[in-house]
Amino acid sequence: MNIQSISVIGAGQMGNGIAHVFALNGYRVVLHDTSEDVLQQALQQIAKNLDRQIAGKKIKSEDKDPVLQRISTTVELQDCGDVDLVVEAVTERETVKAAIFEDLTPHLRPTTILTSNTSSISITRLASRTDRPDRFMGFHFMNPVPMMQLVELIRGIATEETTYQTLLGVVESLGKTPASASDFPGFIVNRILVPMINEAVYALLEGIGSVEAIDSSMRLGANHPMGPLQLADFIGLDTCLAIMNVLFDGLGDSKYRPCPLLTKYVEANWLGRKTQRGFYDYSGETPIPTR
Ligand code: NAD
Repeated sequence: MNIQSISVIGAGQMGNGIAHVFALNGYRVVLHDTSEDVLQQALQQIAKNLDRQIAGKKIKSEDKDPVLQRISTTVELQDCGDVDLVVEAVTERETVKAAIFEDLTPHLRPTTILTSNTSSISITRLASRTDRPDRFMGFHFMNPVPMMQLVELIRGIATEETTYQTLLGVVESLGKTPASASDFPGFIVNRILVPMINEAVYALLEGIGSVEAIDSSMRLGANHPMGPLQLADFIGLDTCLAIMNVLFDGLGDSKYRPCPLLTKYVEANWLGRKTQRGFYDYSGETPIPTR
């Protein structure tokens, strides 16, 4: 199937990045969120990220306007159905995602492929809430989408081979690299990455090291480009907690229990960069560790 038009549901940090890379590669994009404010912020973020790519000589300055022109925005979910491909990228809550797929289904073309950018939720279960589990897949981009090379492709139990082959072609057209993962909690990247972040929060809770000591240990001692707490703030602490809960519930092993300090930060709405405070305070010029 030839994919030319897509809808991106959710215009947060992942949704705006996904809209950016599709528009940059010639696709027509409909971007949806619940408020005009969020959509305007998303367009501003995309423009800023395009400027960064122009400054880094990754794209030409004359590419910017056509990219922005290929993206239209809407607060109406029903405007998102008349496309070849839907990428859902809303908050990591299964009830929210399932409701979107249910509400969108009557507005879809019979051929539209549905995908979710979920970090951890069962693709098979999300697919079962639609009229087309054979045309449903996990399509897991990494953050920040314009920079990160990998896209995980996750087949649900009912996903057809042609759906998978179509999405493989889409990933290639975006200049990214696919990795095929089975539909188990966390897939590949988050099954390994998020328990490490959770362990770093335990290390902080137990006083093994300060925020700075934990992050610099993993940067300098394990050669990670970012420390785990810095990375957690970047991903969003709500997203990290949601993924740990999915691993804990889905795998039933106590080693995946979310760290109580991570839960506490989310309860305080200290969600990381997106709320200006997490393991670091981002309100000034340079991030300041909060512990
Ligand atoms: P985010 O909080 O930045 O954005 C979520 C967006 O969804 C918000 O703009 C919110 O307004 C919107 N939204 C919520 N309910 C909605 C609804 N009913 N209809 C339309 N829009 C709605 O979160 P994010 O980091 O962009 O994460 C989005 C998804 O991507 C999650 O499933 C997450 O697990 C996944 N993901 C995140 C990362 C990461 O590093 N943050 C990486 C890969 C995948």
